Amino acid sequence: MKDPILESYGSDVFSEKAIRRHLPKPVAAKLLATMRKSTPLDPTIADAVAEGMKNWALEKGATHFTHWFQPLTGGTAEKHDAFLEPCGPAQAVQRFSGKNLIGGETDASSFPSGGLRSTFEARGYTAWDPTSPAFIKRHENGATLCIPTAFCSFTGETLDMKTPLLRSIQAVSRATERLMRMFGQKRAHVEVTLGAEQEYFLVDRRHYLSRPDLLQTGRTVFGAAPAKHQQLEDHYFGAIKPRVLKFMTEVERRLWQLGIPAKTRHNEVAPAQFELAPMFEDLNLAVDHNMMIMEVLRQTAEANDLVCLLHEKPFEGVNGSGKHCNWSIAYGGRNLLTPGADPRENAIFLTVLMAIIRAIEMHADILRMTTAGAGNDHRLGANEAPPAIISVFLGDELNDVLRQIESGRRGSDSSRRGQKLRVGVDTLPPLPKDTTDRNRTSPFAFTGNKFEFRAPGSSQNCAQSQMVLNTIVAESIDAICDRLDTMKGPFNEKLQRLLQYEVKAHKRVIFSGDGYSEEWRKEAAKLGLPNLRDTPAALAPLKERRNVELFERYGVLSRSEMLSRWEIGMDDYRRRIRIEAGIALEIARSMVRPVVADEFSRLANALGQAKSDGLKVGIRGLTALSSKLGAGLDDLHVKCDRLERTITRDERPEKQLAAMDDLRKTVDRLEGLVDDSRWPLPKYREMLFVY
Ligand code: ADP
Ligand code: MG
Repeated sequence: MKDPILESYGSDVFSEKAIRRHLPKPVAAKLLATMRKSTPLDPTIADAVAEGMKNWALEKGATHFTHWFQPLTGGTAEKHDAFLEPCGPAQAVQRFSGKNLIGGETDASSFPSGGLRSTFEARGYTAWDPTSPAFIKRHENGATLCIPTAFCSFTGETLDMKTPLLRSIQAVSRATERLMRMFGQKRAHVEVTLGAEQEYFLVDRRHYLSRPDLLQTGRTVFGAAPAKHQQLEDHYFGAIKPRVLKFMTEVERRLWQLGIPAKTRHNEVAPAQFELAPMFEDLNLAVDHNMMIMEVLRQTAEANDLVCLLHEKPFEGVNGSGKHCNWSIAYGGRNLLTPGADPRENAIFLTVLMAIIRAIEMHADILRMTTAGAGNDHRLGANEAPPAIISVFLGDELNDVLRQIESGRRGSDSSRRGQKLRVGVDTLPPLPKDTTDRNRTSPFAFTGNKFEFRAPGSSQNCAQSQMVLNTIVAESIDAICDRLDTMKGPFNEKLQRLLQYEVKAHKRVIFSGDGYSEEWRKEAAKLGLPNLRDTPAALAPLKERRNVELFERYGVLSRSEMLSRWEIGMDDYRRRIRIEAGIALEIARSMVRPVVADEFSRLANALGQAKSDGLKVGIRGLTALSSKLGAGLDDLHVKCDRLERTITRDERPEKQLAAMDDLRKTVDRLEGLVDDSRWPLPKYREMLFVY
């Protein structure tokens, strides 16, 4: 029997199967080698590849092609070209050349460049990334061939997320190869892998359209907490409502056609919050796939009269959304973060583990940078998501192993000798891969065979954090190799001494307790761990010399590329908050105030009437309510003016945020006083619960 799901899996991808069917044999072989081993593409086969790809795309109903790339806005970008070309009066052919495939020239003037590009040189170049396969995007009237590409300026500076990611993969691969040589391992392919868990909210489109704040900023700037929200913890892993399940099923069908291995789906902690996790894949591919997942989520929601919110904090008072990035590194197909079967494998595991701990301890600031953004500021540091302090969670067993390494002066204390772990000689105790008792408050946690970075926001491109993680780990591995090179003695003993030293030097970053607690905040401050609370603080490390030198040394980002990222990040932050302030002011003045004023005047009239009629009852109630509403109206007036001043004077974003928060208090209080049928905005209890 034919399995329709298997039949359609990857059907919209220029996959190995499609390549073999549409390309001449030698061309297919060369292309597949490039895709698998990341060897440079032989330019002489470009035309043949393009021809085969075009024929495949035409079969799939495509009329256009586009170089699909990831500019520094955090989203994706595409400009479509028709295959169609005229070839005489009223005659045309479908054409797609090797040149079309390999590179394109785009007007880049409206993409953020952070001053990298002068206006007279506004051209940008896209270059095909053959390691991520081409795919088909569908819409109601047809389809488009999408070619994953890198994007750079005329002078070669990167203007996208993919280029530095690819460079960083190369950096960590090289360092890993070097380390493996030291361990006497055969040459093998290094693969960095990512499994990105995607959280999101769904709201009914009706509600969305009546919320100008959601429409314009992706989050609600007003809205009182409903009586019931997530206190009962009854949504997490609860039965999925039929309307949502229908949506999820459609999302998965589409993702499977795109060869994206969507695996798990469930209700998340907050009402109306959900999660989708694919199986982990090669990092570069997984990043592209996550960008596609976000798009498919949005589009499928629309088709179901829903709206998918990817903002990190659409609703105050309930959990926000993150994107847990599960990262690991494999050598010759073996995951180096899996404790091995024999002492040698364990020694490799411990060395790689130590390199990662060292990297986080030394470069927590630049890793935190990758999660900066106006949206994520509402998560990090609040009492739900990982704190802004980057620490490492290892679990009891590994903590114990590291303690043994740290304390182990081998042979000096024969009575305790048996208890101390000798690297390269002993095997490790079994480590549980338990999913239940993990420390959810840790931003960077070892979860059995991978590290899970939990700080990235739900809307952010994971390329950013993964690029930094790769680079700092590469640096750490190299530093360990350098030391081993200069040390004397038998290898295992050198390694033991080195690891002992490294544990001592970097253990302050390891933390097993409650990451949300005030005690940890104080303790971390004492330990000197950075706590970069908001976007401006988190972006600052991009300008620090030691970071610039590190990224230049590994050829991942140049000084100007780092500076440009700082500029783009700051601009984005300011603009977003300015937009939020603008829409908050507009809603408060033109939607909330008229309703409050109207209700107040009705009440005041009723009160006057009641008094003149000499009524004995109702006066107290009317007086109390109208004075509350009157005070609210005054407050509204004062706070709107204050917010407006922060805008017109172009005050710091922090000031605008504070004025918005203050205004919110008044509006949310009024929400509970004004006649429900007249309140101009859908309320939280409607948006979060009504489907
Ligand atoms: P949880 O929510 O319990 O953390 P999920 O199943 O939601 O677990 O997500 C775990 C993610 O980690 C999945 O995307 C999974 O494929 C991924 N993952 C598992 N092993 C690895 C690995 N070796 N490298 C990278 N990611 C991995
Ligand atoms: Mg999960």
